[in-house]
Amino acid sequence: MELDQLRVAIVGAGIAGLALARALALRGASVTVLEQAPQIREVGAGIQISPNGVAVLRGLGLEPALRDTRPVRAEAVSLRDACGAEVLRLDLARHAPEQPHYCVHRADLIDVLAEGARAAGVRLRLLHCVAEVRPGPSPEIVTCGGARMKADLIVGADGLHSCLRPVLNPGRAAAFTRHVAWRALLPEPGRPSPEVRLYMGPKRHLVTYPLRGGTLRNVVAVEETPAWTEEGWSLEGDPARLRALFADFGPEVRDLLDRVGTVHRWGLFRHPVARHWHGAGVALVGDAAHPTLPFMAQGACLALEDAWVLADRLAAAPTLHEGLAAYQAARRDRAARIVGAASRNAWKYHLSLPPIRAAGHMALRLGGRIAPGAMVRQFDWIYRHDVTGGANLPGPAPLVAE
Ligand SMILES: Cc1cc2nc3c(=O)[nH]c(=O)nc-3n(C[C@H](O)[C@H](O)[C@H](O)COP(=O)(O)OP(=O)(O)OC[C@H]3O[C@@H](n4cnc5c(N)ncnc54)[C@H](O)[C@@H]3O)c2cc1C
Repeated sequence: MELDQLRVAIVGAGIAGLALARALALRGASVTVLEQAPQIREVGAGIQISPNGVAVLRGLGLEPALRDTRPVRAEAVSLRDACGAEVLRLDLARHAPEQPHYCVHRADLIDVLAEGARAAGVRLRLLHCVAEVRPGPSPEIVTCGGARMKADLIVGADGLHSCLRPVLNPGRAAAFTRHVAWRALLPEPGRPSPEVRLYMGPKRHLVTYPLRGGTLRNVVAVEETPAWTEEGWSLEGDPARLRALFADFGPEVRDLLDRVGTVHRWGLFRHPVARHWHGAGVALVGDAAHPTLPFMAQGACLALEDAWVLADRLAAAPTLHEGLAAYQAARRDRAARIVGAASRNAWKYHLSLPPIRAAGHMALRLGGRIAPGAMVRQFDWIYRHDVTGGANLPGPAPLVAE
């Protein structure tokens, strides 16, 4: 399909919306992104972008700009028990040296994507809240102020509480997963080892890794809890309560949490993966289609993959409808499989019965000793999946940050 004539409106300037905007604009579409927030910005936190996500950034010509933000390239993922003893080391530098796995500041990633979208000619409209998306032969957006806007294609990239998702998939609101995440960003005084560390304890785990050339450290701690009643996406938490929650962990974790001054917490909510990702003239991408627990660090990477594949299938298909159907066919099973793997990790990380935990950790230790390469390669289906097939989109010269 010729995308030159296609007018696209994208709801949401998160990772999915901005990546899709650049991918479509580089293929010639006329793209407008409507974002409810007054600024394009992200919370102060880290995010891991694994090789499958990096492949999309490379295809979009954005990997050099991302590298200029000084992400830390992880050399290993180290799974540890609550005391700090290493249970399994996934040695990425040794067993997957050609595949960059970046630890990035979220604000840096969003800046790179937003600049990339602007450079490709995308119009970014801030303070534009969308109340409703109406599918149809001539799909329409109704803004929160009552204004209307038509486009040939409207994409819901508006996250967990998407306004388009329930139109295509009527049903219940997102449900609380019984997990609450605490996150903090700390200055890093020393020269940190470039690795992701994950400490596993009964009904809790903590992930930490360095960012921005090793000057900052990201900490995400997750607890299981039966209820979440507070309103808001990101509430300030009590550092003393966080320290108390992990008081029975070893000195590495306790020392880290002693340094936490400000901490935010939020309840993790989820829908099932959407059954319908598209309707007449409309489609879903990113968390709007498949919110996931963050325990495989794949939500944003899936969003990047969606963006590439949607633009690619639209360009290859004879009609809009066929392009949208090909997009869903290419994406749904993979997203569901990764979301399922993330949910199973919640169980694996949080084993609480001591004999089961001991057996689980022993199996990981043995696997790591006997076949360390195979322990890394078991994730090839996630990390080595390159939706771009090595392609680069033609368009403005690759973006290089100033
Ligand atoms: C603790 C935690 C850690 C994580 N770590 C990782 C990780 O390491 N790696 C990884 O790949 N993923 C990770 N994820 C998942 C990742 O953050 C999400 O999957 C990703 O941000 C989803 O991007 P999105 O663009 O689909 O949605 P969002 O980031 O939610 O963006 C949606 C955008 O739409 C806007 N919007 C919403 N409604 C409207 C409306 N009505 N009108 C206009 N605009 C609207 C919002 O303001 C927002 O800008 C993590 C998640 C959590 C919670």
